[in-house]
Amino acid sequence: MMQIPADYSLARNKSYCDYCPGYCCYRLPGASLLLRNDDINRMARHFGISDGEVRMQFLENKNTFKTREDGSCILLANDRFCKRCTIHEARPLQCRDFPYDKPCPYLENPDLLAILQPRVEQSLSLVADNGT
Ligand code: SF4
Ligand code: SF4
Repeated sequence: MMQIPADYSLARNKSYCDYCPGYCCYRLPGASLLLRNDDINRMARHFGISDGEVRMQFLENKNTFKTREDGSCILLANDRFCKRCTIHEARPLQCRDFPYDKPCPYLENPDLLAILQPRVEQSLSLVADNGT
């Protein structure tokens, strides 16, 4: 039988992010995404609108994104299975850095996956129904 190294991890250093449906883009109770002013400004330049308009359209309070009922970030696309961030080039620093050169805590934790996988599948069911 194949030996799995003790430090084995499915996703380390973002190695899996391009193939992942974005579990980290669903907000769980107690978790938060902290937006900084330069994150807001990067988005404003990306969309060609003002910082204030970014705040109005996408923020739910001073420094975090609005989420949908299932907890997904308002900027997460529901029409594709991976690479779902619609502002990938302009995404906030915290989204860029996560999981901070460590194994992804979502993929490593069956309890988290059990909460999030049904939400992901629900979000993406329309894509699957269309056979795309
Ligand atoms: S950090 Fe983890 S949950 Fe987020 S996209 Fe990468 S592999 Fe997926
Ligand atoms: S901005 Fe993009 S990467 Fe960050 S939480 Fe939202 S969808 Fe995910």
